[in-house]
Amino acid sequence: MRILQILTRNLYSSQIRSTSPSLSSIFSNPYLISSPISLLASFGIAFDIDGVLLRGSNPIGGSPRALKRLYDDSGTLKVPYVFLTNGGGVPESKRAKELGRLLDVNILPLQVIQGHTPFKQLMRRFENEVVVAVGKGEPAEVMSEYGFKNVVSIDEYASYFDNIDPLAQYKKWIDKQDANQNSKPKHIALSNDPCSQRVQAVFIVSDSVDWSRDIQVLCDILRTGGLPGKEISHQPPLFFASDDLAYQALFPSERLGMGAFRIALESVFNAVHPAALKYTSYGKPNPFVFKNAESVLMQVLKSCHNNHQVDGGEQFFKTLYMIGDNPSVDIKGARQAGIPWFSILTRTGVFKGKENHDDIPADLVVDTVEEAVDYILNKECIS
Ligand SMILES: [Mg+2]
Repeated sequence: MRILQILTRNLYSSQIRSTSPSLSSIFSNPYLISSPISLLASFGIAFDIDGVLLRGSNPIGGSPRALKRLYDDSGTLKVPYVFLTNGGGVPESKRAKELGRLLDVNILPLQVIQGHTPFKQLMRRFENEVVVAVGKGEPAEVMSEYGFKNVVSIDEYASYFDNIDPLAQYKKWIDKQDANQNSKPKHIALSNDPCSQRVQAVFIVSDSVDWSRDIQVLCDILRTGGLPGKEISHQPPLFFASDDLAYQALFPSERLGMGAFRIALESVFNAVHPAALKYTSYGKPNPFVFKNAESVLMQVLKSCHNNHQVDGGEQFFKTLYMIGDNPSVDIKGARQAGIPWFSILTRTGVFKGKENHDDIPADLVVDTVEEAVDYILNKECIS
């Protein structure tokens, strides 16, 4: 059967090479070049980042070597893959460059799916509304790149209100210049009195840096219909990029993630407000994220084929591999997403067990991402 597959693929490969040399040069792996194109790439890969490819900024588990095997000798991508992370805080274009530098491969912005990437789809709804973006990195720049025209970071927003954070004077780490945001570009067309403009939505783009201030300011915004200091009113919509309780960073044990911040905010809000907090969370394990990753993988494949017409229905890929370190996020998500997802759990991050995870077993457990890629390429007959 395997020999038949190889023969079939090679036959299609030679057909393409003889009729369309430009395609074969763009996407040059013979096993992936065939016609009709629905037989081209029967699989794709989604890599989690933290705890699989990187710890902090350090590559782990042979990740640069593993990724290099997805390209041919000329550096052309031969296997469609994406990064599927709940992390974020910088625009996808910037993250692609940074990952390319750390992992020593050429990465397209399209291949980077971060926790906040689905916020793009809310752009039309809030395009011209005042929205607040929360989190480390460049949350307002992220939203601005998505097309939101009146977005303000929570740092900048809080700076407009005198004494909104009663603990600010004790926070020695806050640089006055940064707090005033004078040197940073503004992403909002605020009037002379920004405090009088109603906030229409709040987006938690990445991990909150200053929990005490952010919980205070968010309670102010959310309890008053977007006008801190004013009377109680309807809660504006609140969106979280992910709901990870913990993630693996440089410290030996896991660190608290956005899910932990959500619990803290929700607990405080529900204690000080008569109605329970309403919110929407994105990120893995939400099945929507995996569905979206499938269509992005298809776009990656198409971009490699110079937008060649792809025929095919819902299930073009026979197998999509999710490689992650967190059973409750990566493995649970892939399992919930079902066919064609196949889950691979590495031992380089949150999961450190000897056998499979008891409650959320993966389809395969390996030590490192390099081992996972070896397994996939062998199974798919690609050396
Ligand atoms: Mg991870």
